[in-house]
Amino acid sequence: METLTRGTAPETAEPWHVLPVADVLRRVDGREDGLAGEEARRRLERFGPNRLPEAPPTTIVQIAFRQFTNPLIFILAAAAVVSVLVGDVTDAAFIAAVLAINAVIGGVQEWRAERSSRALQRLLRIRASVLRDGELREVPAEEVVPGDVVWVESGNRVPADLRLLSAHGLEIDESFLTGESLAVQKDPASVCEPDTPMADRRNLAFAGSIVIRGRGRGVAVATGSGTAVGQLASDVLGVEAGKPPLLERMERFSTAVAYAVLASVVVVGTIGVLVQGHRLYEMFMFSVALAVSAIPEGLPAALTVALSVATTRMSRRGVIVRRLAAVEGLGSCSLIASDKTGTLTCNELTVREVRLPDGRVVTATGEGFVPEGKILIDGRPPGPEDLERLQNLALAAVLCNEGDLHQRDGEWSWRGDPTDLALLAFARKLGLGRERWLDRYPQENEIPFESEHRFSATYHRFDDGLRVFAKGAPERILAMCSVESDPEAAHSLRETALEMAERGYRVLALAEGIAPADLGPEQTPPEPSGLRLLGFVGMIDPLRPGVREAVDACHQAGIAVSMITGDHPVTALAIARELGFASSPDQVMTGRELEGLTDEQVREVVGRMRVFARVAPRQKLELVEAAREAGHFVAVTGDGVNDAPALRAANIGVAMGRSGTDVAREAAELVISDDNFATIVAGVEEGRVAYDNIRKVIYLLVSAGAAEVLVVGSAMAVGLELPLLAVQLLWLNLVTNGIQGVALAFEPSEGDVLRRPPRPPHEPIFNQLMIERVIVAALVMAVVGFSAYWWMIANGWSAPEARNALLLLMVLFENVHVGNCRSETKSGLWRSPFLSPILLWGVVAALLVHVLAMYYPPARELLEIAPVGPRTWLVLVGLSLTVFLAIELHKLSWWLRRRRS
Ligand code: ADP
Ligand code: MG
Repeated sequence: METLTRGTAPETAEPWHVLPVADVLRRVDGREDGLAGEEARRRLERFGPNRLPEAPPTTIVQIAFRQFTNPLIFILAAAAVVSVLVGDVTDAAFIAAVLAINAVIGGVQEWRAERSSRALQRLLRIRASVLRDGELREVPAEEVVPGDVVWVESGNRVPADLRLLSAHGLEIDESFLTGESLAVQKDPASVCEPDTPMADRRNLAFAGSIVIRGRGRGVAVATGSGTAVGQLASDVLGVEAGKPPLLERMERFSTAVAYAVLASVVVVGTIGVLVQGHRLYEMFMFSVALAVSAIPEGLPAALTVALSVATTRMSRRGVIVRRLAAVEGLGSCSLIASDKTGTLTCNELTVREVRLPDGRVVTATGEGFVPEGKILIDGRPPGPEDLERLQNLALAAVLCNEGDLHQRDGEWSWRGDPTDLALLAFARKLGLGRERWLDRYPQENEIPFESEHRFSATYHRFDDGLRVFAKGAPERILAMCSVESDPEAAHSLRETALEMAERGYRVLALAEGIAPADLGPEQTPPEPSGLRLLGFVGMIDPLRPGVREAVDACHQAGIAVSMITGDHPVTALAIARELGFASSPDQVMTGRELEGLTDEQVREVVGRMRVFARVAPRQKLELVEAAREAGHFVAVTGDGVNDAPALRAANIGVAMGRSGTDVAREAAELVISDDNFATIVAGVEEGRVAYDNIRKVIYLLVSAGAAEVLVVGSAMAVGLELPLLAVQLLWLNLVTNGIQGVALAFEPSEGDVLRRPPRPPHEPIFNQLMIERVIVAALVMAVVGFSAYWWMIANGWSAPEARNALLLLMVLFENVHVGNCRSETKSGLWRSPFLSPILLWGVVAALLVHVLAMYYPPARELLEIAPVGPRTWLVLVGLSLTVFLAIELHKLSWWLRRRRS
């Protein structure tokens, strides 16, 4: 899309940017405290859902039509035309039928793919926090209506055009709308001129733009196609659903084959006619047969099925695939760099221990955010003076807090950052709620939490002036405290915090102080200083169940695991130890240490270090790039807006479905619905299975095609009659092999996929093993098939009789060969065929279809086939087993060769 340059803003119906807030609210009939739920529902009906008009879906007819624009079809169509010209109408009719069937199969596949990509977009929809019935609620962005009061924070996509009511450090990236690449600092108090360019309307936030930093609150003035972006274009926000690279490669492959065949057919045909004196028509039929056998007609459908089976299996295990490329890539993944909080751990923080500056130890019982539990000081219930001492700390914990924890109908419910919620739960256990204190000491200003700052602060009006409360990483907060001037005291405090971290606690410091008197509510406050430390809070964060096993599985699968976290190195190491992927402090590196390294050194450490702690989000990108340069195929998790570049740079970006922001989910290839590390590993497993199956399908169909080419070519070379007619080859490739190929796409895991090393990322599908296998299988089938044909002709069989038997032999060959394809390394007898019921049914169906055709007159006539006697059956079945024996031998020799090297 063309981005607009500054100043060419479209004329919005209302000049929202020039109106004061009160007028805006009057016009949209809204209030500062939001809409009632009932009213919002009415407005949704009146204004319609908040989304842009979508491009009409491609119709089936369009899709079907597209199936005809491919060189294979041209060759077949030419064959049909020639058949009609020489009076062979049944052949032409069959080819036409095949073309139609091919279009239907291709069309249905594509249509299904389109539909599922639409369903996916619905899953990935943007969320919005709105005030309804006086309560902050998360709703799908589609349900936002004009008049809604909407909250936005870093990582959100702005759901509608908003007139800002308040903002703290709010910076928004509007580049898609204005072409301006720098984020815009928003200011709700500003009032613009009517002709202020779009990019300078600092009191508005536009739908679709990205909140880079800070928090804000605004009233929705326009939704859906009424928004600025809606008036511009309708497709800016669309998720493009590209074709998976594998399919693209295969398409290019079969196009190349088609052209090569076309060219060689012309050459061979000309030589045949001019030099060998064959009849033109005969040569043409040979050429068409060659073309048909060389092109793997059944492949696109089978591959599409294999990929969609993979995405379905993944989504069943909680992995949503946003870009199909990731399915293939997962099998190559050699390093997973994971977040700690929420991915390796539950992110259900509980305050377990508090250290007061005087050294006293406060402990709390209970689990999770439900504030049920007891508080003990030095092992005893707190007396009245103790409570007073704790009050200040608890006050800081509830005021400097963006969470929301309340009781409704006897049930506790919550919303917000787990760190904040843990503090709210702790304060509740002491009997302190947030609302009451907020009413008493109204908030004047704040510095919202951002990962890169590692602290947050809030300013409140007290009787004696403005006070500031801060919480954050201990070293950050201590640096703001006046105790810094007493090195000894500061040192002992640091030791206390460190000692808590060593026991695996996530440690936060709380502090309070007097704020500069001249700080107005509109100003961005400076970093606080001269604070008084109130204490350290130690939170536990239980490990997610299943993660330890998943880490083990990774190690068996040759995948290194590392952790990238903003938390303290000591806390991080304690958790990595428990999970078994790091054991000593020299496997830990901090963001600070990382800063001093050259690119080369980073490449070196990225493979050795297991824990990266106190890492700023922007350093994540550096780590990902270094890991890729060091030859790793990296999967990286992320949730915040700052993680998006790293997610994009990674080979596989993994976003968290629950805690992930809109921006992170849009940047990722995979979305993990439960945020769990173990689910990523499940995705890797399914990715490997999918890649295996893709190889199996390709192996089956390409080796069959190669065998057909050899049989037809040999007959032409020695001057025998055409051994398989074009229609018979089409039947073989599209119908019987087609059924087998699709059935193979459903193969279950071989069971040991997570015990193999990762596949080299650049290894082609046609690697050494695949090439050898295809050659062996094709040679055996071709030599046996052609010899049989030769023998039959030599023993007085008519050409149609011999073709009939050869065609049946080829069907049997493929049915046996499917057994070979079930595993690349293990014997075909290794696992019961009943473990792959779909494949078993596929084999039965392929044979049944062919036998039925042998007995059903119209099909017999068309394919020029007939039933054969029991002796022939027996001999043919016997011959078909040769391909099994040959491949078993090759598997054995491959295994021996690998063991030796
Ligand atoms: P992680 O979640 O991996 O620990 P973050 O970037 O979210 O990393 O947090 C970095 C650090 O910032 C934390 O270790 C903690 O000290 C501090 N922190 C985290 N959440 C908050 C919060 N809500 N308010 C203040 N400080 C916080
Ligand atoms: Mg965090």
